[in-house]
Amino acid sequence: MIQLYIPLNFLGVLYREIKQSLADIDKMFTLLEREREVADASGAEALVLPEQGPPNVRFDDVSFAYDPARPILQGLSFEIPAGKTVAVVGPSGAGKSTLARLLYRFYDITGGSIRIAGQDIRQVTQASLRQAIGIVPQDTVLFNDTIAYNIGYGRTEDPGRPGERGASREEIEAAARAAHIHDFVSAQPLGYDTMVGERGLKLSGGEKQRVAIARTLLKNPPILIFDEATSALDSANERAIQAELQSVARGKTTLVIAHRLSTVVDAHEILVLEQGRIVERGPHAVLLEKNGAYARMWALQQSVSDAA
Ligand code: ATP
Repeated sequence: MIQLYIPLNFLGVLYREIKQSLADIDKMFTLLEREREVADASGAEALVLPEQGPPNVRFDDVSFAYDPARPILQGLSFEIPAGKTVAVVGPSGAGKSTLARLLYRFYDITGGSIRIAGQDIRQVTQASLRQAIGIVPQDTVLFNDTIAYNIGYGRTEDPGRPGERGASREEIEAAARAAHIHDFVSAQPLGYDTMVGERGLKLSGGEKQRVAIARTLLKNPPILIFDEATSALDSANERAIQAELQSVARGKTTLVIAHRLSTVVDAHEILVLEQGRIVERGPHAVLLEKNGAYARMWALQQSVSDAA
């Protein structure tokens, strides 16, 4: 029996390894697929950022469809003034995360324009565009590598630092402290050398978001996109992460895709998106006074959080 068990056990391990590798290859192809959606225009030049301070971002009459038969965004116009925060709220499927993908140019829009400091994002190199934008996504993908690598990754592509593969351990630790994940990392027996990802230590949703925040702190881009996690964090964790996001966003041009309204109260402007159109817009207090879609969403969320 034992003789049979060992090879079977070995086969089980082998099977898991192969399955994992296939999952990684699959992920890689999905990324490559995305990359193929867009290409640098011939003669594209690097995005030019203002000499001082962050740039503004403008969406002008933007339309988009993943599938031509089904328009997702229709005639959207708004501006994120330099250094300000615009938040997008609305029901699931309204197109909020799509807006973020378009700004990062995962896809090209089908109508209108998106401009950063006056430059159409289709006319600049993707490398310079993505260098200027930091994303804290809904669900952070961790590499099967150490926590240090996963945080330092935020700084591997900086053209201003040729040859640098990641930040120094001191810089990684400083970013981890600012993102409030340092104590968690230090409590692991291998500290920053702890392996994470699918084959290593599994991190919770909140811990993964903190890794993403630390990455973004290291990258230090002038434009930020926060795609708030839909998965519920406990409320203490949620408040803490919100505070960290706010401090990262200070002085940066920020687009927040909000699934909870508590995140957006301080935004310069809130856009209420329904079926790919802006149905209401304005700061929190003005929208509450309007007593429309936003006020209803707010009342609903208040009653849910009171009940919890
Ligand atoms: P949620 O609050 O649930 O995250 P959302 O407002 O962010 O929703 P999006 O993720 O932007 O919504 O999706 C808008 C619409 O586009 C949805 O109907 C969705 O099914 C569709 N969609 C999203 N991604 C793709 C894709 N890669 N291919 C085709 N359709 C997509």
